[in-house]
Amino acid sequence: MAEKVIPKTMGQQFGRRSWAEPWKIKMVEPINLPKPERLQAAIQEAGYNTFLLKSEDVYIDLLTDSGTSAMSDRQWAGLMLGDEAYAGSVNFYHLEEAVQTYYGYQYVVPTHQGRGAEHLLSKAAIQPGQFVLGNMYFTTTRLHQELAGGVFADVIIDAAHDPENEHPFKGNVDLDKVQAVIDRAGAANIAYISLAGTVNMAGGQPVSMANVKALRELCDRYGIKIYLDATRMAENSLFIQEREAGYAGKSIAEILKEFCSYTDGAWMSAKKDNLVNIGGWLAVNDAEVFDLARNLVVVYEGLHTYGGMAGRDMEALAIGITEMVQDDHIRARVGQVRYLGDLLTYWDIPIVKPVGGHAIFLDAKRIYPHLPQNQFPAQALAASLYLDSGIRSMERGIVSAGRDPETGDHRYPELELVRLTIPRRVYTQAHMDVVAEAVKAVYDARASAVGLKMVYEPKYLRFFQARFEPMP
Ligand SMILES: *Cc1c(COP(=O)(O)O)cnc(C)c1O
Repeated sequence: MAEKVIPKTMGQQFGRRSWAEPWKIKMVEPINLPKPERLQAAIQEAGYNTFLLKSEDVYIDLLTDSGTSAMSDRQWAGLMLGDEAYAGSVNFYHLEEAVQTYYGYQYVVPTHQGRGAEHLLSKAAIQPGQFVLGNMYFTTTRLHQELAGGVFADVIIDAAHDPENEHPFKGNVDLDKVQAVIDRAGAANIAYISLAGTVNMAGGQPVSMANVKALRELCDRYGIKIYLDATRMAENSLFIQEREAGYAGKSIAEILKEFCSYTDGAWMSAKKDNLVNIGGWLAVNDAEVFDLARNLVVVYEGLHTYGGMAGRDMEALAIGITEMVQDDHIRARVGQVRYLGDLLTYWDIPIVKPVGGHAIFLDAKRIYPHLPQNQFPAQALAASLYLDSGIRSMERGIVSAGRDPETGDHRYPELELVRLTIPRRVYTQAHMDVVAEAVKAVYDARASAVGLKMVYEPKYLRFFQARFEPMP
């Protein structure tokens, strides 16, 4: 007689009680796994670049968590309450109140998405030639700071650059690095600290409350402002609740508000934490900066009570903010990312540690050690994963890093990664199982993987449109 195998729930497999998603599904969008011949044809047509795949050829889409969230029934109901008045829409006042209540800033300027807010703040708060100090850069953020004449300086702790370093707050600012710039350049030559929680480019790594408090004290001594990239600050709050002494009993909403209280303002890509498909905002406490930003918004975005959003979008966004701070929601969201990370770790598949808030990063250097970096191991790994199971991921390695403008050679970044980004409230744990098994199948076949050759290379941000062919 066959041995009886007792099935284990997801949680039991990892020695804990299971949790379940704090929602049930009311409307579904069918997806299907294309046949192997179609997967092969689609990746060839896309030049082995997942950015060039058509979404209809994708089974599970982990390209990004930006604008890909599922809205709740309350948010969809909110869409029907859109007040599409050109000026003074009631939905703007709901949004303003939600930002004031949950983030605690006084003045709110709506924008079409995060980069719109980055543009306004950079123009309003940077004098040409001033330094902007950041805990690692983000692509659009740094570009707007530079376009406004700012000079970016990275002040994140060194651990952030090491994929195997398990520091619990790898997004922290190194205060000695800040002090060194103050000593060298003078406080008057620093526009502000550009603080991000969690740090996207470091793998979704959080900043601790102790760190932002200490940063506030340092900045107060010199009269330097701190502006927060609040894009994934709700996720950051969960890491503080779990890892920092004194916060286990505090709610996500309390932690978020305390963290923001140590900063002078924030900009937001509402396409992430705020649970909508488009939108953004800037919020500050300084009346002068507000006055400038509210004036600039009419030039670049729209009137100061809509900033490029429809009234209905602002209503869904205001409701999204109230849902974002629910402890259950954020635990399920980060828990799902961690669940996928736990499975991959259990199977000894190399990933960036510790697992962050929004994505798993596969370490292509360790998965394909036989492929030299100029044969694009992460790009090849992303293509293999798509070929195995129709799962779309994103390269974050040598292709994304681009070329050195001086020498014209590739930049060779330390990190050669494939990002599996989890949309909020979209996929179930069974989808995560499928993803984990696909990664394992690709990992098991790693010895036979071949590199890629770049056959088309655009001049700017090449990772979006570059085309490749397998090495012969
Ligand atoms: C997405 C993102 C932005 C830019 O926001 P958009 O809404 O895409 O314009 C800024 N900062 C971080 C950390 C982001 O992830």
